[in-house]
Amino acid sequence: MDFDLTGEHVLFQKAIRNFAQKEIAPLVDEAEETNVFPKQLFKKMGALGYLCPRYPLELGGGDGDKIMDCIMAEELNRVNAGIAASLMVQSGLSTQPIYRFGSEEQKEKFLVPAIKGEKIAAFALTEPDAGSDAASIKTRALKDGDHYVLNGTKIFTTNGPICDFATVAAYTDPSKRGEGINLFIVEKGTPGFSASRKLDKVGNRSIETGELVFEDCRVPAKNMIGEKEGGGFDMIADTLISGRITYGGRCTGTAQAAYDLTVQYAKERIQFGKPIVAFQATRFKLAEMAMNIDIMRSYTYRVAWMYDQGKNVRKESSMVKLFASETLQKILSDSMQIHGGYGYMMEYPIQRYWRDGRLFTITEGTSEVQRLIIASETLR
Ligand SMILES: Cc1cc2nc3c(=O)[nH]c(=O)nc-3n(C[C@H](O)[C@H](O)[C@H](O)COP(=O)(O)OP(=O)(O)OC[C@H]3O[C@@H](n4cnc5c(N)ncnc54)[C@H](O)[C@@H]3O)c2cc1C
Repeated sequence: MDFDLTGEHVLFQKAIRNFAQKEIAPLVDEAEETNVFPKQLFKKMGALGYLCPRYPLELGGGDGDKIMDCIMAEELNRVNAGIAASLMVQSGLSTQPIYRFGSEEQKEKFLVPAIKGEKIAAFALTEPDAGSDAASIKTRALKDGDHYVLNGTKIFTTNGPICDFATVAAYTDPSKRGEGINLFIVEKGTPGFSASRKLDKVGNRSIETGELVFEDCRVPAKNMIGEKEGGGFDMIADTLISGRITYGGRCTGTAQAAYDLTVQYAKERIQFGKPIVAFQATRFKLAEMAMNIDIMRSYTYRVAWMYDQGKNVRKESSMVKLFASETLQKILSDSMQIHGGYGYMMEYPIQRYWRDGRLFTITEGTSEVQRLIIASETLR
């Protein structure tokens, strides 16, 4: 058993940390304020092979593994959760179905440009009336010659307003609940496809999140992922399992940033003639945070390693997501508490991590959904 990162992992971690500090950190304030994503990052990171570190070199990726995905998520989230989320959708949710199940033509036309940062991708599953109950989506794809005609509305789509293409879930056969779903690649500019609304969020304000509308939108049949009708739900499950492991890295990065800010503040803030870090109540909170961050990181790496070994991690990926996102809530709450009244002021950066991290028990499967999955896997 070897718990160390490899030399390659450590080099990647240093490189991405350095990149995040130098190239992303200076863009955060403006992106948060304007709710406009700094799109130049896609091409910049793609050219360096940082955008999709896990995909093979011949497709333009970094030839890395799942652990690298998690390292990237952690480092990007330390700097900014919103920017990280947008880039994570590109390296995971929207492109993994094409990578795993797409045709050579789809890989060449959509995956390679996405890996290089030349095309921005989105993943559209959730609908106004179908969130946790994803099998209840209503978007319909009806075959018409060598096209499918899509009708429906998607909500909360990360990168929706800025995407060049979206990987969209729709029913080809609504009589088969879940089973009758397929994924389609829909290009921006296709008549009948519009990003209709940019949503105003409490946190993660640097991501552009939107509503997508499909009105008699004719999509070439060759843009359907997979060779036959049906089976899209399994592709979505495959994608979400991977995404939930990455989520461990996201939560760890946000937790680490909150901890670092809090330690610094606790050393500087003087009350009763001493820095508040000298009080046992503060020290105990910080000690518990440090312990939990270490567990979050270690468990994330363990499950990422299992994934890289080709093991079935349906249960463990939900455990990572549930544990890391719920533990993060306590860490963020304690960080705010230690910051006192100043923490509640917009000029102190801790409030942004607190707002951003609140999302993490909700997206890519709520905590309740993760509990349902873990229970179904363990209580047979
Ligand atoms: C900022 C943001 C970005 C997002 N990005 C994307 C994206 O890029 N693509 C995409 O497709 N989606 C995206 N989503 C959607 C996200 O995945 C959903 O919000 C999430 O799956 C929950 O669905 P819901 O919001 O409809 O909540 P609901 O499903 O309505 O759930 C509401 C509450 O009920 C609970 N609940 C529901 N069913 C059960 C049950 N059976 N047992 C116990 N409790 C239950 C939930 O856990 C939750 O607490 C995003 C959402 C946000 C907010």
